[in-house]
Amino acid sequence: MSNTEGPSTLFIDGTWQPAAAGGVREIHSPADGTLVTTVSEGDRADTERAVLAARRAFDDGAWANTSAWDRGDLLLRVADILVRDKDEFARAESGDTGKRLVESEYDMDDIAGCFRYFGKIAGTDGGSVIDTGSPDSFSRVRYEPVGVCGMITPWNFPLLQVAWKVAPAIAAGDTFVLKPSELTPSTAILLMRALTEAGLPSGVGNLVLGTGPEVGAVLSEHPDIDLVSFTGGLHTGRRVAAAAAATVKKVALELGGKNPNVVFADADFDTAVDYALMAVFLHSGQVCSAGARLIVQDEIHDRFVDEVVRRAEKIRIGGPYDTDAETGPLISAAHLEKVDAYVQKCVEEGAVLRTGGRRPEGEQYADGHYYLPTVLDEVQQGSYAVVEESFGPVLTVERFTDEDDAVRIANDTHYGLAGAVFSSEVSKAQRVAHRLRHGTVWINDFHPYLPQAEWGGYKQSGIGRELGPTGLGEYQEAKHIHQNLRPVPPRWFDGR
Ligand code: NAD
Repeated sequence: MSNTEGPSTLFIDGTWQPAAAGGVREIHSPADGTLVTTVSEGDRADTERAVLAARRAFDDGAWANTSAWDRGDLLLRVADILVRDKDEFARAESGDTGKRLVESEYDMDDIAGCFRYFGKIAGTDGGSVIDTGSPDSFSRVRYEPVGVCGMITPWNFPLLQVAWKVAPAIAAGDTFVLKPSELTPSTAILLMRALTEAGLPSGVGNLVLGTGPEVGAVLSEHPDIDLVSFTGGLHTGRRVAAAAAATVKKVALELGGKNPNVVFADADFDTAVDYALMAVFLHSGQVCSAGARLIVQDEIHDRFVDEVVRRAEKIRIGGPYDTDAETGPLISAAHLEKVDAYVQKCVEEGAVLRTGGRRPEGEQYADGHYYLPTVLDEVQQGSYAVVEESFGPVLTVERFTDEDDAVRIANDTHYGLAGAVFSSEVSKAQRVAHRLRHGTVWINDFHPYLPQAEWGGYKQSGIGRELGPTGLGEYQEAKHIHQNLRPVPPRWFDGR
């Protein structure tokens, strides 16, 4: 069982505990390398104990049979705690990610909103009565919890991605084992405390910190997990789905994107430029829905790109508590290297580097993982630059001639998470939005999402949806119960 070494930051069966094998991990700020915290690093054995706890908590039936209204109330209490402790949560998020504090504060508002949304819809859909056409039978469909959920999440919006899974799972009456990114564990720890304070029973929610191969892989393959819900990169998502196939567990995948931002010549110029910058450089491009592909109409291309470049060069970079900064560092040295390698490869392939393509100069950036906002013009369809997600502050630019051309180029990707259209012509914008094969399409806007509206990917951006009523449905099974009200022998076989 557990040793007594290391910080007690795993939460298994209602108890805070260190990793059984004594594993620990230091978290250093991506902004300046300082030590932020030290947490336990769990492994396969810790994960199996957590799965067992979640299985028992589900199978004893007490939690799954609570009323959905009570579970909804619990979620509303969590939302209140998040509002009360917003500062502590936001600082913990910025500590791990290097994200500007103000952005972490926005995220906490969104997270509280997510808990509130699922708190309010829990129990509102009690299933349906089916018209069988006969007074002698009664049929209904009811929604039951799917069971034990494994949840694996990334580092870019650490608690938001967790909230999109934990809140609907609780609303549905599931139990779960959560594995946040090993790079950003702090707010998941705070959330588990908040869930306990709000009244979540022991064993229902479990937290195992650790790496993908040690913890995530176990959740993907374990026969006692009924659903694995994963948010992260495409290649990891494929592994999770393959591991889950052996037990035919349910799989929900929220993967990457290479999201087109289509700008027509008739769009309001300043507005479209401003959004193009926000679309891709927000959080240094570490956003799954980042508008990393600018697809701009020929006749405004030169003027538009010149202005984007001019403005990109003015973006102020800094750490989480630098109130003058407009964006922050990348998550790690390894990610910085990956982004830089992506840019160099695009340039070798023929992309025109208009700005960026390197780390910023200056003492203040020396210990952080900073990268300059980068613009790559004249990239070719089908090229590495267009096909691959950089997940950094890198904008690629393509041109189009007319509406059909814009749609063809924007859909020419194996991803399909999100996209945008900028135009002053309402009907054209609506037509293009209908034709884009992406899960979310913004018109004259970028990035807003609502907990009431489904979020997820077409094509290789994922399977299933988070948020909205469908996001709750992912955590439920639909059961049809049919009752014969006047049973008589059916005489299918006549007995001769
Ligand atoms: P990642 O795939 O490297 O890691 C995601 C999670 O998977 C982490 O917790 C990691 O430890 C775990 N993991 C790694 N190997 C595993 C394995 N073999 N089995 C099970 N789990 C494993 O992704 P990342 O670098 O943390 O996040 C960036 C990616 O996430 C980007 O591609 C981004 O587009 C995507 N993302 C998508 C959404 C969305 O809503 N669609 C949201 C945020 C991020």
